[in-house]
Amino acid sequence: MTAEVFQCPYCSTRTRHPQDVASQYCPVCHWWTGVTEMYLPWLAEREPLDVVRHAALSIYLREPMPVGFAGSPADMEIREHLAAAASAEDAVVIIMMSRPVA
Ligand SMILES: [Zn+2]
Repeated sequence: MTAEVFQCPYCSTRTRHPQDVASQYCPVCHWWTGVTEMYLPWLAEREPLDVVRHAALSIYLREPMPVGFAGSPADMEIREHLAAAASAEDAVVIIMMSRPVA
């Protein structure tokens, strides 16, 4: 059985600690960077809104997204919504409302 791994979307640290994996907590950032509602506002305290929007889109796509990415029409719609988001909190709402079902 392979231990599950959590990789921090901010600093890329990987942890196998079961509690960190379960709560998506980064032991380096000391924050719940895997939890959208907590991560995007936390990121907004450190980075400009454009970076927050980019991170939000990556969360929506569930994978790292290259800058300049052009997606499907649905992805483009999310992109437009995010471009209009005035704050990290807005971006969180947009992502939570539109995240694809796994
Ligand atoms: Zn981290």
